[in-house]
Order: sequence, then structure tokens, then C-alpha cells
Amino acid sequence: MIGAGVGAMAAAARLAVAGHRVAVYERTETYGGAVRRFERDGFGFDTGPGLLPLPAVYRDLFIKTGKEPLESCVELVQVDPSARHLFADGTEAPLPNASRAGVVAALDEALGAGAGGRWGDFLVRAREAWDRTRRPLLEEPLWPNWQVLAEREPYPSVPHKRLLRTRRAGTLAEIGAWELRDPRLVALLESHALAYGLDPREAPASAAVLPYLEHAFGTWYVRGGIRELARAVYERCLARRVEFHFGAEVTGVVEKDGRAAGVELADGTVAEADLVVCGVAPGVLDRPAPRAEGEVVPQRGAASRLTVLLALRGGRPRGTAHRTVVHAEDREAELDALFGVATAMASRPTVTVLRPDDPALVPDTGHEAITLTATVPSGSDTDARHAEDLITVAERAVPELRDRLLWHEVRTPADIAEVTGAAGGAVPAPALAAAEGRLLHPSNSTALPGLFMAGGWSHPGGGLPHAGMSGALVAGLIVEGPEFRGSQ
Ligand SMILES: Cc1cc2nc3c(=O)[nH]c(=O)nc-3n(C[C@H](O)[C@H](O)[C@H](O)COP(=O)(O)OP(=O)(O)OC[C@H]3O[C@@H](n4cnc5c(N)ncnc54)[C@H](O)[C@@H]3O)c2cc1C
Repeated sequence: MIGAGVGAMAAAARLAVAGHRVAVYERTETYGGAVRRFERDGFGFDTGPGLLPLPAVYRDLFIKTGKEPLESCVELVQVDPSARHLFADGTEAPLPNASRAGVVAALDEALGAGAGGRWGDFLVRAREAWDRTRRPLLEEPLWPNWQVLAEREPYPSVPHKRLLRTRRAGTLAEIGAWELRDPRLVALLESHALAYGLDPREAPASAAVLPYLEHAFGTWYVRGGIRELARAVYERCLARRVEFHFGAEVTGVVEKDGRAAGVELADGTVAEADLVVCGVAPGVLDRPAPRAEGEVVPQRGAASRLTVLLALRGGRPRGTAHRTVVHAEDREAELDALFGVATAMASRPTVTVLRPDDPALVPDTGHEAITLTATVPSGSDTDARHAEDLITVAERAVPELRDRLLWHEVRTPADIAEVTGAAGGAVPAPALAAAEGRLLHPSNSTALPGLFMAGGWSHPGGGLPHAGMSGALVAGLIVEGPEFRGSQ
């Protein structure tokens, strides 16, 4: 196993249960990859993901790998409201967790009658896209005829009459403009793409599954921080006798008689193995996995994140939303900066403000730990000025923020590259249908027999649930063979 990210660890635990002897070789001194924690002066912060979508993937992992269910190993809490949205015009909308009727009512109240209904109708169509793609894009190995997924748009867009022509939304931005028809609903929709580093003007309409996923399965937090989930997966691996070698950088996959036969380590030694599972970004190894003809090309140009960790004096006020999304005042300028020819960070980006109600993250009730995140181009040279920009935007959501600030700490794309190995700190997006296959990820099996790919850079793509599913798919392909068609 190459790398101790959550995708590879999910595969490791499942394979160990199936009777394999599993050894993980991890370049850094700890497990979890992107899922890290920063601690100082009694404050604690997640420096990777701060929320967990679709916990069912990890519930399944824990059921299949031992007696103790996930809920006995970590405390999962639903985040309600799922998010409070602060729009550019000053409108504010707290959206309840996983309740269609509740969200419709909240949007009608905040944005005016009719807005909730339009969003609710959109969610019904998004559900159709989800139903059509859930199995091939989450639960099954990538179809050999993946071109079908690349060509077919599963989102049932509403015909839109324009001059004499009838058109259908092909991108997320077109869904916003033609079906939602309110700049705040557009911002709400597009923020889901942006959070995964996708340009809503380019993202296919099938990206509608991203808000649907959050709406249908809820937004969850792991008490103590999301790093606790990585800890639980690591401990489950240890309980199943998976061996971990930290400080062990893999430089290449050893090939013998046309099969993967082990890994080559940076210190020149070789660890032999019957099978190799690679859980790192493409291009990380000196000798990466060979690709078969006609295979999906590894995703390029994925965006990164800038994260600012704030230690504040004064307790978290009662009733504070766990997550607030502060939308950019100039949306087009933000998208142009991020995804234009000369990519750069927007000066006033959309910022996600996380304020968990969690005593484990503060020295006492008289202090608060807040995390700010914005999407930035991968490889961008973010500096103190950009961190200041995020704090300035967050002041719209957190009154007296600067007066309360004790210190702050910044995590840049370079820091993400350090903990994951991915060039420029790129964070892979989940696999999506249509868009000529640009948002699909390479299959979990490779052209080299015995070599498999897990984690966010392989099918079904990035994000905690998707990476967890890649582990299940790899284990299925190894245990049941190439005819494995996904878990039922
Ligand atoms: C700031 C940030 C915010 C995020 N927010 C969200 C979110 O809100 N929701 C969500 O679902 N997901 C989010 N993600 C993405 C999510 O964290 C990842 O998709 C997920 O953790 C997948 O991890 P992985 O299995 O691909 O491994 P990675 O996390 O990429 O880890 C790879 C591991 O391999 C190791 N490695 C690399 N090279 C080598 C080598 N040569 N030899 C040995 N080991 C090596 C690395 O050290 C690392 O431990 C976020 C990520 C970041 C960074």
C-alpha cells in the first residue's frame, strides 16, 4: 500500500479482513494525508476537511471490518443548520440540515416567495441525476465503456426558450441562470461547485448531484474534529494487523514478469509484495502506474485551498451556525480570477467559516477556534495578504472578529502539497458525468496486473466519501477479481 491517506487505509482494512497481509508505506510521520490537525495553546483545528458528507461510506467500512460500528469509535453529529449563507446583497439564509420542506420554507422567507419552490424543484431534478449516476460514479468500478458516462448528461434540465431556439442547461451556471433565476440561488448553487474546486461555468449540469448529496444525506461533523475519523480508520487498520511504515517514501513500483511485485523505497530498499495499491496523486512516483489505451486521463489543474486558523478570545455565542458561507461580492470577478488564463486568488473570495461547537478544540469556554477556507488555484503563491483578505471577508460573518483575534495560522497550497504529495497542493474533485469525461478519474485497476489505485486521484474521485469508496472498490477488485461489479 503506497500512502496512508484515508482511501488507501480504507482499502488496507478491508483487505486485511479478507486475509491479506497488508503493509502501508507512508512518506510522512503520520497517517491521514490531507486529514490533519493543528494544535497550539489548547486550540485545535482541522487543516483538511472540516465536515463529513455521506457518513454511510465509513459506517459500511466499520461494519465490514470489525465488530465495533463507526459510532462506537467516533461521535458523529448532524450539523444543523447545515449552513448559513450570507449573500452579496446582505441577505442571510440559514438552511436546515437534510430537510427539503425546511429548506424551501427558509429560502422563501429569506429570498422571497417562490425562491424556495424553485430550489426544491431543482433538488428533485438533481435527485434524478443522482439516481442515474450513483452506482457507476460511486459504487461500481469504472465502466470499461466509460465513454457512455462522459457523453450522457444525466441531469434532466428544463427546456429553456431563447429567441426561437429551445435550449437545455449543459453547465451548472446555466442551471442557475435559466432554472433558478435569482442571483442568490445562483450563488448558493455555484458555491457547491466552488467548494470542490470546480468552475460552475465549466462544470457539467450533472454537478447538481453535489448540492443534492448534501441535502439528501446531511452534513456531519465528527466530535473532536474530522481528524478523529482518520484516527478511527487508522486504529481499525491496526486492529486488523495492518503494518504501517512511516517516514518511508516510495519512489516506484517494482515490476517482475509483467506484474507488480513490490515497491521501491527512497532509501534504495525494495519491499516485495504480491499486489500493490497506490494511494497517491499521479506524478508522485518516479515510475507511475502504466495506463491502458483508451483509459481516463488523470485529472489536471484541480484547485487547491487556502485555510486560515483563528484563535479568538471570547466564547462561541450560543446559536452560532457551525458553517457560514460568505459569498463573494463580485462572483464573476472571483471565477475569472480563479479559473481564467492567468489564475490567481480573488481579492474577496467566497469564504467558508467553520465554528464548531466542540470543547475539544478550545482551551476553555472563554475562547473560540474558527477555520476559514477559500478555493485557490493549485500552486498559487498565497501570502499573508491573502490570509488577511479571508479574515476581512469573514468579518461579515463574525462580529468583532479582529478585536477578538489572539493569533492566526495559515495553511497554503504548499502545505497541502507537503501532507499529500500532490503537486501544487491540488485537491481532487469527485467524479462527475458528462463534460467529455474531464471529471472522471482513472479506473482502480491499471494496465499492470497486480497494481491498483485508491484515493482521491482514482475512481470515484476526491472527497472523504469518494476516497473511502475507492478503498471498497479496490478491495472488491482484489478479493472478487475483475468481474467485481460493486457492493450491493
Ligand atoms: C484543505 C482541504 C479541504 C478539504 N475539504 C474537503 C471537504 O470539505 N469535503 C471532502 O469530502 N473532502 C475535502 N477535502 C479532500 C479530502 O481531504 C481528500 O479527498 C481525502 O482525504 C482523500 O485522501 P486520499 O486517500 O486521496 O489521500 P491523501 O489525503 O491525498 O493522502 C496521500 C498520502 O500519501 C502519502 N504519500 C504521497 N506520496 C508518497 C510516496 N511517494 N510514498 C509514500 N507515501 C506517499 C502522503 O504523505 C499522504 O499521507 C479537502 C482537502 C483539503 C486539503
